[in-house]
Amino acid sequence: MWALPLWPQATPTSQGEELAEFGRHAFVPATGDQRNEDHDKLCQRELAAAGEVLGAFLGDRLNEVEEKYEQALIKIDRGRRFFGSSCLSWFNCQYMKPLRLYALIRLCLKSTALTPAPRPQAPAAPPPRLVPTRGRRRQVDTSTHFCPNPDCAYRGWVGWGNLRANGHPSGGPWRQLLCVVCRGYFLETLGTIFHGKRASVDLIVRVIACLAEGLGIRGTARVFEVDPNTVLQWLVEAAEQLRAFSRHVLHDVRVRQVQRDELFALLSAVKDGEVSAAEAIERLERTPQWVWVAMDPESKLLLAIDVGSRTLAMAQRFVHHVVQVLAPDCAPLFLTDGFREYLTALLTHYGHWVQPPRRQDKGPSPKPRWMPLPQLLYAQVVKTIRRRRLVRVSHRVVFGALEAVEQVLAACGWQIDTAFVERLNLGIRQRVAAVGRRVTTLCKGEDGVRHQLGLFHAYHNFCLAHASLRVPLLQPVPTNGTGSVKQWRPCTPAMAAGLTDHVWTLREMLLFRVPPWPQPAGV
Ligand SMILES: [Zn+2]
Repeated sequence: MWALPLWPQATPTSQGEELAEFGRHAFVPATGDQRNEDHDKLCQRELAAAGEVLGAFLGDRLNEVEEKYEQALIKIDRGRRFFGSSCLSWFNCQYMKPLRLYALIRLCLKSTALTPAPRPQAPAAPPPRLVPTRGRRRQVDTSTHFCPNPDCAYRGWVGWGNLRANGHPSGGPWRQLLCVVCRGYFLETLGTIFHGKRASVDLIVRVIACLAEGLGIRGTARVFEVDPNTVLQWLVEAAEQLRAFSRHVLHDVRVRQVQRDELFALLSAVKDGEVSAAEAIERLERTPQWVWVAMDPESKLLLAIDVGSRTLAMAQRFVHHVVQVLAPDCAPLFLTDGFREYLTALLTHYGHWVQPPRRQDKGPSPKPRWMPLPQLLYAQVVKTIRRRRLVRVSHRVVFGALEAVEQVLAACGWQIDTAFVERLNLGIRQRVAAVGRRVTTLCKGEDGVRHQLGLFHAYHNFCLAHASLRVPLLQPVPTNGTGSVKQWRPCTPAMAAGLTDHVWTLREMLLFRVPPWPQPAGV
């Protein structure tokens, strides 16, 4: 019989001991469709996935881990000859799963470094608000600005009455502001993409708008007769700023449902002469990239969007990202396709230790198990596709009771379905040139797509009014001329989710100075 404690012995550090400890009392999630699979393949895949994840958190000791994998595979191979497939299933369930799960929990704790940084907290309580008592009333509204001076006590507090408008220096387009506390001057564009740019605001906004509507970088450059590198530079800066904007506004979101999906993205590895196009396509087939999307079907709010491979580590990182956006006590109903790694990723985020009750009077008490939280609801929509045709759609409730899932959905009159996120995928394919189907606007790499997706994320949530969200006006507004009266008030996903109160324009978002920490009054 082969030696059981392979992993713990291999890593005789505190981490290894922890692994062993976890392996001793671990939860094994039961999934229905695993029984039909060939045990051998399953086991190999489990090992590979575990290696990937363990490698991520063991870091520099990856080589050692890989060596142990080789050994493990050999042992499994020997084991199969001796014990048949039942042994492999035992190995898989009793041994690999727990270790993998443990590694994932560790990875989740670590993945804060991978996902966008958590919301920064204010360093101290805010200073008292300043109310001007002397002089005439101020004409210029400075309530959306904050002092950037790191030595100033009023740094980062928006609208605390410490700022005065100081005219336009040298007749320039932007206003100068004065902080009366630290006597520092700064321009109202500080921290936005317009700061220090000589190109006109209109031009920059239109270029970004063109990119947001799905025209490629070269196309945009031709339309506005700008150098493509300039367009790319603006895109990178705008995406950075809009990501900060999204992070500032999207937090503590309360939703009842989350739909998640991935869509295929074609990235080009072609670099001037380094790799031929044919080679790049071949390489693409080996490392396909996927755009990961999570949205709330009720408000159409895009919670998170990211690009990466279709692996467990990525699923983990993505769930972590979504959980960061949601309110801490918010446990929505998750709906996904049949991608199995979601299960583990969700379980590590929405799980806790449970001490099973004693069944017998004698013997040691049972080990605690890692179980899903009782309020976690998760259902999958499994589509079977043969010869590019959809032949069957089946539903599977993974965590929680079917009645509970149906109750959440019945509030909207829906069934278990991922239709809304699939509709959103169409929007992404239309607006992000590099993800479109059968296009030649390939992106140079993951980073390029990430910038475009960052732009799409903010544009979709704050600028694009959604037809199904529009609200009837109490009083129809007459329009000029002979047109019919205006009956609807447009509504964006962010408005439907209660995050903002108006439709943002791209210019407004790009001019918004994102404060360094959350403000007491909100946006
Ligand atoms: Zn100041």
